Amino acid sequence: MDELRLKLAIQKSGRLTDPSLDLLARCGLKISRGKDQLMAYGENMPLDVLFVRDDDIPDLVQEDVCDLGLVGLNVLEEKRLELAARGHPVRFQQVRKLDFGRCRLSLAVPQGTSFSGAESLRGRRIATTYPFLLENYLRERDIEAEIVTLSGAVEIAPRLGRADLICDLVSTGSTLQANHLREVETVLESHAVLIRTPLALAPLKDEWVERLLMRIDGVQQVRESKYIMLHAPRDALPQIRKLLPGSESPTIIPLEGFPDKVAVHAVCRENVFWETLESLKKAGASALLVLPVEKMLA
Ligand code: ATP
Ligand code: ZN
Repeated sequence: MDELRLKLAIQKSGRLTDPSLDLLARCGLKISRGKDQLMAYGENMPLDVLFVRDDDIPDLVQEDVCDLGLVGLNVLEEKRLELAARGHPVRFQQVRKLDFGRCRLSLAVPQGTSFSGAESLRGRRIATTYPFLLENYLRERDIEAEIVTLSGAVEIAPRLGRADLICDLVSTGSTLQANHLREVETVLESHAVLIRTPLALAPLKDEWVERLLMRIDGVQQVRESKYIMLHAPRDALPQIRKLLPGSESPTIIPLEGFPDKVAVHAVCRENVFWETLESLKKAGASALLVLPVEKMLA
């Protein structure tokens, strides 16, 4: 393997796979691969992608097999606590929070069971695949409970009599509902993150990490950003500037033949809603136009 190429681990097949590949594509990376292959070659960047189980991603960075990884905060934090519990140093750093993979690690009780805060957990059996995060949660609240560590199918544990309640990942809550469970507390709010090795990289690799980070920032900003164009009476400018959501300094352009009017162009780093456009119109704006932003580099 080429020592001068970055190695990035992503989930091979699961919820993070498509958004991870989409992010990399938006960053300009072209890879040649079949999905079943373990590794894909970056054609236009010195970066190769490894496809693995998400649970292995922190380890691959920890063991310096990969320089970078895209993984859920839930998996990362579980690993961090596990390493700490074993007295091992942590050899990965979170370098970016990403805008996908949103979910939460939550406690859920069988429907019809009462729950009145963390105290209700005392002495209960809680099934989970995240024993370290759960243990940490209980310890912070000074609660003794039995953690039943499972490798999957946590949501059926109460029905099988293996646990009184569960601690599992939730996004819409439909799986809980299908299993007659009720979400009662959040243990961790999660989303995907980019991690890197804390070890120094060769200058060329380091440079590409920086470029990748800048591009990721650009991609994430663009997803929310809009370009607004409008006409405004000069004397309405102060109010209109206040109404433009999340924009720094709009460009003000004179309008030929209309001395008391200007054109305003602004990048808004938030979504622009109909309500905003209506307020702008009320403030005197006309010819309003909202465009998506394709690329952005700060
Ligand atoms: P693997 O075979 O790689 O171990 P898995 O079954 O552990 O796969 P997935 O169910 O694909 O993993 O979930 C991967 C990650 O996606 C989770 O660890 C979490 O960070 C995130 N995730 C979990 N549930 C959701 C959800 N409903 N929506 C979005 N992201 C989620
Ligand atoms: Zn997994």
